[in-house]
Amino acid sequence: MTQKDIEHFKKILTNQLKELLIHVGDAVSGMTTPKENLPDPADRATIDSDRNFMLLISGRERQLAVKISKALLRIENGTFGICDNCEEEIAYKRLEARPVTTLCIDCKTKEETYENARGL
Ligand SMILES: [Zn+2]
Repeated sequence: MTQKDIEHFKKILTNQLKELLIHVGDAVSGMTTPKENLPDPADRATIDSDRNFMLLISGRERQLAVKISKALLRIENGTFGICDNCEEEIAYKRLEARPVTTLCIDCKTKEETYENARGL
């Protein structure tokens, strides 16, 4: 993967995280008081530094935020696009469709087959 590809995915992931946090921020402001203490959702790109905020969001959105943060971390340390399991490069098309993925299609398929076999 070239530096240009990396920049491309970094932009996608950063935007995804921002959008998610703005969305979550809106939801959180609706249920918490006082509002003055709430962080500005637009400034939430460094989400892992604020655990309290992370506790306020729940379920799927938090999972996704964590996944995006981890993907951005992998971009920082140069392991982005490398399969967690077999350490092969993940296909560009797969990353394009799902930049937060940590497994290549082969390993993902195997994992799913395994989970299905166990009835998960
Ligand atoms: Zn793999």
